[in-house]
Amino acid sequence: MPTKVLIAGAGVAGLEAALALRALAEELVSIELVAPETEFVYRPLAVTEPFRVGEARRFPLRHLAEAAGAELTRASVRSVDGERRMVVTSDGAALRYDSLLLSLGARPVASIPGALTFRGPMDAEAFGSLLHEARAGEVKRIVFALPAGASWPLPLYELALLTAVHLADASVSDVELALVTPEDRPLKLFGDTASQAVAELLEMHGIALYVETTATGVIDGSLRVLPDEQIEADRVVALPRLEGPRLEGVPHDTNGFVPTDVAGRVRGLTDVYAAGDLTTFPIKQGGIATQQADAAAESIAARAGAPIEPRPFTPVLRGLLLTGLTPRYLRTEPGSVRSVVDTEPLWWPPAKIVGRYLAPFLASKLHLSESPPPSNGNRIAVDVDLRAEVP
Ligand SMILES: Cc1cc2nc3c(=O)[nH]c(=O)nc-3n(C[C@H](O)[C@H](O)[C@H](O)COP(=O)(O)OP(=O)(O)OC[C@H]3O[C@@H](n4cnc5c(N)ncnc54)[C@H](O)[C@@H]3O)c2cc1C
Repeated sequence: MPTKVLIAGAGVAGLEAALALRALAEELVSIELVAPETEFVYRPLAVTEPFRVGEARRFPLRHLAEAAGAELTRASVRSVDGERRMVVTSDGAALRYDSLLLSLGARPVASIPGALTFRGPMDAEAFGSLLHEARAGEVKRIVFALPAGASWPLPLYELALLTAVHLADASVSDVELALVTPEDRPLKLFGDTASQAVAELLEMHGIALYVETTATGVIDGSLRVLPDEQIEADRVVALPRLEGPRLEGVPHDTNGFVPTDVAGRVRGLTDVYAAGDLTTFPIKQGGIATQQADAAAESIAARAGAPIEPRPFTPVLRGLLLTGLTPRYLRTEPGSVRSVVDTEPLWWPPAKIVGRYLAPFLASKLHLSESPPPSNGNRIAVDVDLRAEVP
């Protein structure tokens, strides 16, 4: 009998794990994906929607499930019964598992009252209206604010830069733009080289930068910031804070995030794994989610009898920053001082969400990258195999 692997959540981590498991354990596992939706939404490109230069791409989940040889069940998971190795769905059905992978993502929560919180495709229209008002001369000061505790700041920098280019293209020169962040350097999690490159980009586009500044709310045409100051703003655009799913039967911290070890095993439960935004790992990002999913998939595959030595999750952070002009590829290992920035791809396929199995699959299906890998001359090698570089 194959090992029955249940994957709760069919987003970035869940799909990467399903594809990885099929490749690593082949017929040793049967895979069931459980999610309420019918489409996978590639959210990083949502930042391009308001500018009409791109859109969040969608792909039928059943095609992805077929590619992974997985069964797809449309349901929401409500609780986990670790003793009976069962998951209970919101319609009361019990789904059995030998190994369970939780990849339910996280919930975006607005945390700067009075700001337009950009959570993804659902806020593209509101942001588009703001751009319309700016072009019409009704809005003269737009502030982009990163809330305290935001775990993936890149989209805010993208929105600010894309807005600057968009307004310049529309010959609008009298709208002031500013970016407010609690970080001591812009996009700090990518390291010094990236911070410097981003600071230069902001300056080049005339976007004022306020670092070590925490926004608390918008009152009477100004953004209140700590300790007790304000920045004039006709409109404030913010990113959300994330909260974990708080699933019954699964341990979690005060923000609802699930604690795991380096193999992705959930602390306190047997044969239950977690990967992606719902874990306590502080950076909530697609490429990190896929690396966690790969570590969990290797561990599950080895347990199912596949002849592999599972490798631990060793994070590498890759970010593709859209600037409205030439994009920037950013790469670092969290906690290290090494940081690389380039205008040419540092990995392949050069997608925004990097994943060993998911990225090539989506690149071919969604046509995310059409041209062949560049010849990289003296630059660092383009990553193809994510795990090959893990020390
Ligand atoms: C605007 C924006 C821009 C971004 N830009 C980038 C970028 O440039 N690069 C990058 O790497 N990342 C980026 N990200 C982040 C990236 O999208 C997430 O980190 C990634 O999707 C997390 O993967 P996940 O599998 O943990 O969660 P998700 O992809 O959110 O998937 C969660 C899945 O769980 C399902 N689910 C939820 N609750 C239940 C339940 N109770 N039962 C069953 N299923 C459930 C959901 O329906 C979904 O299928 C961006 C995100 C946004 C919003």
